[in-house]
Amino acid sequence: MATQRIIDFINTRRPNGPCMVLDLDVVRENFHNFEMALPESKIYYAVKANPAPEILRLLASLGSSFDTASVAEVEMALDAGATADRISFGNTIKKERDIARAFELGIRLFAVDCVEEVEKVARAAPGARVFCRVLTDGAGAEWPLSRKFGCVPAMAVDVLRSAQQLGLESYGVSFHVGSQQTDLAAWDRALGDAKQVFDALAKEGITLKMVNMGGGFPTRYLKDVPTAQAYGQAIFQALSKHFGNRLPETIIEPGRGMVGNAGVIKAEVVLVSKKADNDNVRWVYLDIGKFGGLAETMDEAIRYHITTPRDGDVSEPCVLAGPTCDSADVMYEKNPYPLPISLTIGDEVLIEGTGAYTTTYSAVAFNGFEPLRSYVI
Ligand SMILES: *Cc1c(COP(=O)(O)O)cnc(C)c1O
Repeated sequence: MATQRIIDFINTRRPNGPCMVLDLDVVRENFHNFEMALPESKIYYAVKANPAPEILRLLASLGSSFDTASVAEVEMALDAGATADRISFGNTIKKERDIARAFELGIRLFAVDCVEEVEKVARAAPGARVFCRVLTDGAGAEWPLSRKFGCVPAMAVDVLRSAQQLGLESYGVSFHVGSQQTDLAAWDRALGDAKQVFDALAKEGITLKMVNMGGGFPTRYLKDVPTAQAYGQAIFQALSKHFGNRLPETIIEPGRGMVGNAGVIKAEVVLVSKKADNDNVRWVYLDIGKFGGLAETMDEAIRYHITTPRDGDVSEPCVLAGPTCDSADVMYEKNPYPLPISLTIGDEVLIEGTGAYTTTYSAVAFNGFEPLRSYVI
């Protein structure tokens, strides 16, 4: 949501061109809400959602840990003040030399999802802790993470057994229920799978200690979403159901849920037009689109809340598109977006809930448009 601080910043600074303005007070509040919702879980902020140094420094000072996906992200977290024992290398796809570099920097917790990756970690980070990611179906998520990461639970048993045999510490199981997950039952299914892996390895004398419950916590776009507290309750119930009173250590890795609602994009209407006199949908072109940071509108997956200076006037469904000369740069067409008929060239609009997965998704100079500027206040 656009906080008063964000609105005041935009009105007084009048930044030229599209930009994302993010309010750190909202991030601080989100962090506290996660802490209260899941007091027994450690929070590893997923750096990829928004790696702005101000955000990382704030979270490091609040005691957050960090989930990183590359050496550069490890370094960003270290620069922000996190110690290496508070950083995980959570990408299941790593070059062996990057594992070695992270190990040199002190990182001791790595994600794997196959024996081939375990072998790399065993060579480049001897003795480190590994957790194995299991597949989830992503059902209920608006931005599912598909089959790219994870393996079936039966294979996770083999992966963690081989890790132990190669001198690593088989530490636990991870999953990600899909981003913008609004089905609270998704964690229940995944925790059931994790327990199977715990049990199978326990029979072989390997005691796992940790479940990494990933991200997936939502930002409110157009529809209401459950509160952090509701997620906390559902997850705690599922943990108790599957693990009884022998609860493992747990980690959560919020990305979107930590920063999404803290940011707002200010954009401008560049053109409003029709394709024929009798066309009944208008095309509204903004100075930002898929290549300027709104990549999550791909397949119209994420539907942002847009406010305009003419809200309250009669509105009609519009096709919403970006400014580049690429025909893929259309955000909402199959499901047109209602906007005021009076909306006109030069109007400034606010695209809400854009603190996550925007600045880092924007292209460097496609068509000469500069990358999305970001102001963290
Ligand atoms: C991207 C990512 C996250 C964050 O997901 P959100 O849905 O944004 O909370 C967490 N864990 C891993 C391993 C990720 O890749």
